[in-house]
Formats: sequence, structure tokens, C-alpha cells
Amino acid sequence: MPDAIDPLLLGQRVVAILETGLRVATYKLATLMALIDHCIENLPEHPADQLAVSIPDLAHRVLQLYWRQVRPFEGHDLRQSSGEKERIPRAVRALRAATPASSLSVAMMAAPEVYQTSIDEIGLCLAQQPLYRLQRLPGGDLTDPFLYDDSFLHSNVSRRTLRAHNDAIVLMPGVAAGLARLAGLLKPALEIMWVDDVRRMNKFLTAEVPDIAGHLFGRDRTALAAVRGPFKDAFGARCFYCDTHLPADNPIDHVLPWSLVGIDGLANLVLACARCNTDKRHALPAVDLVDRVLGRDRGVLEQIAGEIRWPTEYQRVAAAARGIYGSQPPGIATWSGYKASVRLDIGFPPRWMDSPS
Ligand SMILES: [Zn+2]
Repeated sequence: MPDAIDPLLLGQRVVAILETGLRVATYKLATLMALIDHCIENLPEHPADQLAVSIPDLAHRVLQLYWRQVRPFEGHDLRQSSGEKERIPRAVRALRAATPASSLSVAMMAAPEVYQTSIDEIGLCLAQQPLYRLQRLPGGDLTDPFLYDDSFLHSNVSRRTLRAHNDAIVLMPGVAAGLARLAGLLKPALEIMWVDDVRRMNKFLTAEVPDIAGHLFGRDRTALAAVRGPFKDAFGARCFYCDTHLPADNPIDHVLPWSLVGIDGLANLVLACARCNTDKRHALPAVDLVDRVLGRDRGVLEQIAGEIRWPTEYQRVAAAARGIYGSQPPGIATWSGYKASVRLDIGFPPRWMDSPS
């Protein structure tokens, strides 16, 4: 078995595969983002461990990434590839067309068969295109499999072959912990590349077109407003961070930053004042704050979830917290309140730091 890859070298090699040549689709970027998210939420026990990643799980994450992006932008369907087929966006649009639901978790429940068909199609497309090509060196048949063994993948790989490999790829030793640790650096870089690619593939998007990045990756603020009233009834109209009394239109804050994990479940949301919300922005919160947010009454959250049909995603938030803090070196600065920070020190690990068994 090869040695565990050093995270710095891993980061350099990931950037290198993205910088060679013009991309013909945004699928490689989506695949890498999905892999990073998967690693954060499934951090192995030991940094040098391998990690099997199920292709259907990866397909679900890719579906989630494109879910917002396939909405028309200023009347246009945005192209995500320079070819004709657009297999992934088409599979995502098929699910969007099957139900009026604007949230993916509601759509999955409303149209489970269409959802499954979309996942099957996206999974096969991932295996035949981005997973197969990601580690290929330009201009030849050379492959440099530093992330996972790709020897069973090719552009016509069948579902049967995939099943024979447990419908999964296996990340090399150290890759999962390394990707989780590098998430804060790699994800913003991937987003910038993605926005550039979409601009290049959609000629009508001139430099003046407003906020294409917001359309592709931003959080829908109007949708979050649905949480405000029920949270105020349940937890009081006070800022989660500084306890100040809140006005009617206060922000809803993602405790684990949206830009890092993209989790919208109620378990990751709090009421905040504009001052704390702006000051915190993309910062990693102090462990104490995560402990407090995950320590809220789960029965109350579940009740709100049922009333407004918005999942809590408690397990996912806990797993992501474990992945983020478990992969960071001690001593990095974390945001602990308005203009305040503390160094990361997980001396007395909170319960959510234990691996799920
Ligand atoms: Zn505040």
C-alpha cells in the first residue's frame, strides 16, 4: 500500500489537474467539490486511512450542486458544457420538472422514482466522464492516480462493471483527510473556476451581467426567511452569538459556513444580528459555538422541521463539524463572537467529535 499523501502535495496536484487545458464541462469541478464535501462529512478515523466513496452518494452531491444552477438565469438555461449533451444538467432538470418543489429534499420525497432515475444517470455519467478523466494527463493515455484507482473506468464503462466494484471509488491513503483539511482553500478556488467556465460557455454573459456567482453558489435569502418566525417562537428573538434583541428582518446565519459545507438544515441555522452575521462571514466558528448549536433541543428542531417541511440534517451537521475540526491543526484562529477569536483547542472533545458507530 502506498504511503499517505502529504496534504500540501495533494493540494498542489489537485490544482495542477485543474489548470491544464480548457475544460469542456463543469463536471470535473462538481466532482471535486462533491468529493471534498463527502470527505468532510465522512472523515476517517486515522489521517492515513483510505475511504470508499459510493458513486450514488457522489451523484446525490453533484445533483445538489446543480440543483440551483439549472434554474433559468435572466430567462436563459445556462450551459454547463461546450458539447451538446449536457447529461448532468438534463438529469437535474428532469427532477425539477417532475415536481413544483423548490427544495431538493422535498423533491426527493415527492418524486422518488424520477429522483432515482436522475441519480442513476448522473452516477453513470460521473464514472464515464469526470471520474475517468480527472487524473488523465493531457494529450495521452497516461493516468496519474493519486486520488483513487481509476483503472476500471473508461468512457463506456457499464453499470455492471461499476457494480463489480461496489459502485464505489476508493480514495488513496491520506486523500480523505487531506481534502477535508484543504476544503477552506480548495472550495473557493473551485467556485471561481466554475464561474469563469460558465461565463465562457454562455456568451451572453458579459462582464456587466449581475451576480452570476450568486446565482450559481449563493444562498437563497428569501427561502431562509421561512425559518425566522418559527425560530423566534422557539428560541426567542435574540442573536445566537451576542444575545442582543433582534429586529423583524434580522439575518439567518449558517453556523458552519455556507461557503465551506453548504448545509442548509435547521441544525446549522441560527438567528443572528446583522453585526455578528457580517463580522463572522466565512470564518470558522469556535468549537464552543458548534457545541452550543448542536446542543439545542432536537425535539424542538424536529417539530419545526415537520411544520415548515425543512429537514434538520442534524447528523450531517454533526459529521461535517467532526470532519472540519478533526482535520484542522490545533492553534488556528476561530471566530468566537463579534471582533473576538480563540485558538482551536479541542482539549475536551464534545460528543459530536466521536465517530459515529
Ligand atoms: Zn449578535
